[in-house]
Amino acid sequence: MKLSKLASDIAESPTFALNEEARLLRERGEAVINLGIGEPKNKTPISAVLASAAKLTSGEVKYTPPDGLPSMKKAVIRYTEENYDRLVAPENVSITNGAKQSLFNILYSVLNPQDEVIVIAPYWVSYNEMIKMCMGIPVVVTPEDGTFTPRFEDIERAVTSSTRAIIVNSPNNPSGAIYPPELIEKIVNMCEKKGIFMICDDIYHKLTFDHNVAVPAYRFAKRDVENSHIIVVNGVAKLYGMTGFRIGWVVAPRDLTRVISNVIAQTTSCVSPVAQAAAEGALNGLQSVVEALRLQIQNNRDVVLQELRTFNGVRLIPPAGTFYALPDIRAFSSNSVEVSKFLLKKALVVTVPGKEFGMEGHLRISFAGSVKDVTEGIARIKWALDPTSPNEIYIGDKKMIRDWM
Ligand code: PMP
Repeated sequence: MKLSKLASDIAESPTFALNEEARLLRERGEAVINLGIGEPKNKTPISAVLASAAKLTSGEVKYTPPDGLPSMKKAVIRYTEENYDRLVAPENVSITNGAKQSLFNILYSVLNPQDEVIVIAPYWVSYNEMIKMCMGIPVVVTPEDGTFTPRFEDIERAVTSSTRAIIVNSPNNPSGAIYPPELIEKIVNMCEKKGIFMICDDIYHKLTFDHNVAVPAYRFAKRDVENSHIIVVNGVAKLYGMTGFRIGWVVAPRDLTRVISNVIAQTTSCVSPVAQAAAEGALNGLQSVVEALRLQIQNNRDVVLQELRTFNGVRLIPPAGTFYALPDIRAFSSNSVEVSKFLLKKALVVTVPGKEFGMEGHLRISFAGSVKDVTEGIARIKWALDPTSPNEIYIGDKKMIRDWM
């Protein structure tokens, strides 16, 4: 069958593929623990449920303007004012089917073929594939010093006359790193000076631990929203645990928002008003739900740190935010794909290979789930990999003996 080369070259999403594998195993009655997917387990906030139910019962579920319902935009404008200290206009906002579509639409709207986009490793799995779908070229900058924070000089060195954008994801999926304010400031200055778009993927911006904060790029902008080249992406998936509602948004200069709106109008038309109403309910409702989730995730993070410290040879830079840890597992193997497969087969634990995030020799562990799953999942990983751990374990109701070391 002859298919598009561009589309056929797009890699499968490893997180979704692993999630499906875990689902099938669970369906067969296996006691799988999923530390792969980044999805909080909380129920939908009640304000979101009520707002979407009200929309449904009104019977008025029709097309909305392509860039979103005015009331949803209003909620985003308020959110931006409260959290970013920037008063933007409705013409700066577009509502999309998840932050994923926000990112795709931005890249589609700013890139010409062969334009370059700087991506910082470790990076979220979809950036490079989306850039390629838009006929751009991802240029990856990898921290050389074993940390998860790039040096500004390395970013600057990657800039060429073809650079159109840089994607900055802090707090970072998969490492949990928060970039220091000085680095964000330097990137903002560089982007303003050179006319490069700074795409801030802020989907985890409130999921930060201890005294860490993710400083918004706007804080360092010398120009207004129209001219700063800063583009902010956010959504309700992670902070409110509303992954299935598929609501994200973009805050950008008006010219770009207009193009994004046309892209939406000619592809998906708009986002379902029921989902938009739900997101509006979440943004306008009690914000203690976000803090409750943050505290639960922080507690899980502490459990991960405690459990991983007992591993012989595993090195971990403690995550400062998100719900991911990216331990260095090279003491066991430098092939993260093999290790991840091995852990699923022997210990029935889903993890994501660091290779998928441009960080071979590491394994991403999601701690978004229950503390029980996190504790038991890591105990199983330790049993499977660490020869100093006891060689017997219960997986479900089966007693397992380690017979490979
Ligand atoms: N950016 C990052 C860094 C993510 O981790 C994710 C979800 N895993 C997204 C964007 C997409 O979020 P959404 O579910 O809103 O599309």
